Amino acid sequence: MTRFFSSKYDRLVPYTPGEQPKDAEYVKLNTNESPFAPTEKVVAAAAREAARLHLYPAPEPKALCEKFALSVGVKPEQVIATNGSDEILNFAFAAFCDGSHPAVFPDITYGFYEVFANALCVPYETIPLRDDFTISVDDYTGVGKTVFIANPNAPTGIALPLSDIERIVASNPGNVVVIDEAYVDFGARSASSLVSKYDNLLVTQTFSKSRSMAGARLGFGIASEGLIADLNTLKYSTNPYNVNRMTQAAGAAVLDEPEVFAKNCGDIIKNREYLSSSLEGLGFTLTPSSANFVFAKHGAIGGERLYKELKARGVLVRHFGGERIKDFCRITVGSRRQIDVLLEKIKEIQEAIL
Ligand code: PMP
Repeated sequence: MTRFFSSKYDRLVPYTPGEQPKDAEYVKLNTNESPFAPTEKVVAAAAREAARLHLYPAPEPKALCEKFALSVGVKPEQVIATNGSDEILNFAFAAFCDGSHPAVFPDITYGFYEVFANALCVPYETIPLRDDFTISVDDYTGVGKTVFIANPNAPTGIALPLSDIERIVASNPGNVVVIDEAYVDFGARSASSLVSKYDNLLVTQTFSKSRSMAGARLGFGIASEGLIADLNTLKYSTNPYNVNRMTQAAGAAVLDEPEVFAKNCGDIIKNREYLSSSLEGLGFTLTPSSANFVFAKHGAIGGERLYKELKARGVLVRHFGGERIKDFCRITVGSRRQIDVLLEKIKEIQEAIL
């Protein structure tokens, strides 16, 4: 840190993204990307826009927002497009949290929430998950703080029913409730159907997982027109051209192929069931996942050991160091071929060290 770096960041610990190694070809099951490449139509749409890269993109991607709003069943004024859903989450911490509206989120959840809060100097509190890693809904009803809940939660994959989400939103009318639906398409129910009923609900979604666009960076906020207007105030105060031309075109093209999206989600759900039952057969315990990853613990091999042994054999999974979850690894649900390689390597490790 130089002497120029503001002292307000003295204790800021940045988010550690999952490894994106260049040293070797890995079976990459560590960052919850889709194993399915974008379709030819999506690639062609992005390529057409590449020829116009000398021009700024539309600050308000109207066609994209209209298509997305239609697919979700809300008005275009109820959505905002962002540079990945990390950007909308960042805007939400900046817009809706302060000394009188501290943030609150579970102790085990998406690690970026804490980083956003610290980077923006926002006070926050964490509430422990129950021992089985479920969220105790009563902890959040009438909590009187700006609530951030990932549904399904990460890295556990456990989802809350929509009725529980509604209870939290309805009981906190004086605060915004942010429901981060990065993984909603793999088995949970979206709260986007509630945004016209509650003016304090912000739902965030991403095209990084179920829509095969992690590399393009596209996320959305869905909320009442008032909240979207607030979020736009922040966007126009930071980076008006936040979604680039190629991403806008690719996102619109993805929305033109809903059947591809539905098939890919269905395949991931099938693969998750295959991966889960295979891991259980190999002695793992898993949390019940509604996401495109599983959270798994082996009775005899520690989480960090498993991560390292798999990496040495060309398979990347994610290990988190937190006390309550250090025995687990988070494993992305990949293609059948990727899963079979993973299972093969786990058997190899078991034979070598047990
Ligand atoms: N929320 C959760 C729970 C996530 O796991 C992620 C992905 N790391 C994000 C949001 C952000 O994803 P993106 O910025 O790619 O949309």
